[in-house]
Amino acid sequence: MPVRFDVIIVGGGISGLVSARKAAQQGKSVCVIEASDRFGGALQGKTLGGVTVDVGAEAFAVARPETLDLIKELGLVDRVVAPRRSDSRLIVPQGTFPMPHALLGIPTNPLADDVVAIIGIEEATKAAQLDELPVPESWDPQITLGALIRQRLGDQVTDYIATPVVGGVHALHPDLAEAEAIMPGITAATTKYGGLSKAAAAIRASSGVPGAAVNGLVGGMSNLVDALVQELQEAPNVELFLNTPVHNISKAESSGQSSWEVTTSNKEFLGDHVVVALDAKNAARVLTSLPSIHQPLSRLYVGDVVVFAGLISSDVLDEDPLGSGALIAPSTPSIHAKAITHASAKWEWIREAYGPGRHIVRLSYGRDGVINEDLADLATIAHADLELLLGTSMPAFDQAHLARWTGSLLHPRVGHRVNVSELKAAAASIEGLSLAIAGLAGNGLAGTVSQAHAAIS
Ligand SMILES: Cc1cc2nc3c(=O)[nH]c(=O)nc-3n(C[C@H](O)[C@H](O)[C@H](O)COP(=O)(O)OP(=O)(O)OC[C@H]3O[C@@H](n4cnc5c(N)ncnc54)[C@H](O)[C@@H]3O)c2cc1C
Repeated sequence: MPVRFDVIIVGGGISGLVSARKAAQQGKSVCVIEASDRFGGALQGKTLGGVTVDVGAEAFAVARPETLDLIKELGLVDRVVAPRRSDSRLIVPQGTFPMPHALLGIPTNPLADDVVAIIGIEEATKAAQLDELPVPESWDPQITLGALIRQRLGDQVTDYIATPVVGGVHALHPDLAEAEAIMPGITAATTKYGGLSKAAAAIRASSGVPGAAVNGLVGGMSNLVDALVQELQEAPNVELFLNTPVHNISKAESSGQSSWEVTTSNKEFLGDHVVVALDAKNAARVLTSLPSIHQPLSRLYVGDVVVFAGLISSDVLDEDPLGSGALIAPSTPSIHAKAITHASAKWEWIREAYGPGRHIVRLSYGRDGVINEDLADLATIAHADLELLLGTSMPAFDQAHLARWTGSLLHPRVGHRVNVSELKAAAASIEGLSLAIAGLAGNGLAGTVSQAHAAIS
């Protein structure tokens, strides 16, 4: 016998939980159906050495208000903290450098000392000269970010500054990323300001806070999930289901009434409204009954990422030798990781919780959607990477956790915006269906939260 709800939420990551909260606040009966044995999706805490630390998302951008608003509503504002330090490094074959002043790896001044230090004065001068050349009035709408940067600032800026930054943030090479999908307005701004660096400088300045500025929560971003789940558990009109993978979502007629039918291996749900709060790959799998949605969804690219979080006892890390962490160019010999965060340097609460001589490092793997490393060897690889990054031998990790994130990062490759427009138009024409697909509103919590709210009108 199917169970009926006003709103069925498929997926219990932050999107699903936020949509469920809004629907419940409107007095609707709601269920959240989650495949795994926990809620939160890409927000997850793991306890290492007695302290719970994030092994997925660990911060939120402060340039947009949505995440902070949610944090306030959930009574967690007292926990909001700025990073203790946010001076990440760039690691390229030439060495280790402070992160240049840039917008997602596009330097705001190619002749600045921080750029010259990396590529040398000759290449920096060439980059500046290139960016002074006349700018086209119109651009190929699908130009890649790599092509745009190569055209305006040359290969060295692209390979040694933009590539590690875009790879670190989006796990994608700029040569594969659609410029306008990853940075809306960048081509028009390049024309308007007469150069790509000038456009990057203007966009950075106009946002008031640097786009990369983030805050976190004392105790970790997973607190957001705990607070949401607690509120939903206490609501009389909400039911939460774990370990319940959804197999299919379709429109059904029952007793002359049109409903959404959501099926799992042992339960059937009927609802007036269904919110699909899954990653794109799983969403495509469960929506085969709706070809107009399934087709553009299956053309979207998603990437796999692995985060290796390790607790290590060593005073080598006490003086923060990597700053808050580093982004690593793919061409850097011998290092497999694409990024490292020294979490105990970045967050004061983690530093205090472990005390001197005990540190959390997070190394992430997976470039352009693929994890080339054998996961069975990842502890060994991560340890070797850490030694290379620090330039010294290190003891074994005391404890570690390997978190594999499959599909949680959407890759805005060439054609992305065409697919997304087609998908949104198709979804808008289907009554009672809302999509809150991970990454569709950008690979960050702000877009995710805002999209999840919008799923419930
Ligand atoms: C490693 C990593 C680090 C990140 N760091 C940051 C950061 O620091 N700051 C930031 O702003 N953003 C960050 N992000 C992005 C941010 O975490 C995500 O955009 C956001 O968490 C996506 O949430 P979601 O609910 O849309 O999707 P997800 O978190 O992917 O949740 C989808 C849920 O659906 C479930 N599911 C899948 N298939 C089914 C099925 N068939 N039936 C039922 N349930 C199913 C999954 O188990 C999962 O719980 C990071 C992402 C990753 C992967």
